[in-house]
This record gives sequence, structure tokens and C-alpha cells, in this order.
Amino acid sequence: MSENNCKDTLSKVYDFLADDLDEVQKSQVINHLTDCEDCKREYAIESKISKLLTSSSQDAQFNFAAKIQSRLQSEN
Ligand SMILES: [Zn+2]
Repeated sequence: MSENNCKDTLSKVYDFLADDLDEVQKSQVINHLTDCEDCKREYAIESKISKLLTSSSQDAQFNFAAKIQSRLQSEN
């Protein structure tokens, strides 16, 4: 996995959480997150994703998006 792919995937996480991606893009995000140990570890995404997939909690989605966003901003 390239670092670009990681950043690209994480940049899509917002849209993913907003349910703003098509099915192909969703699959790409999920596939990367399930394959990439770095992203999983860094963002503790595995449990979040499975939670999102099984939960309709808008509040949880918003909190997760905010957390990712602050993390990405701190890297820039
Ligand atoms: Zn990654």
C-alpha cells in the first residue's frame, strides 16, 4: 500500500461517512481499511467501520469524521 493510497482513502472517509460515495468507492475505502494495518492501527478504523456498517447512528458518524479531520489537519 502506498502512502498516497492511504491519504486518498482517508480523504474519502468523510464522504464515506456522509454516505456520499458510490458503491465502488465505498468498496475501495473499505477494502483499503481492511487491508491496511497502518490505517487500521492509526485510526482505529476497523471497529469504527464495522460499527458504522451495523449502526445508523448519525452522531457516531459525525464524531468519527471530526476526529479524522482533526488528525488529517494536524498532518498538513
Ligand atoms: Zn492505509
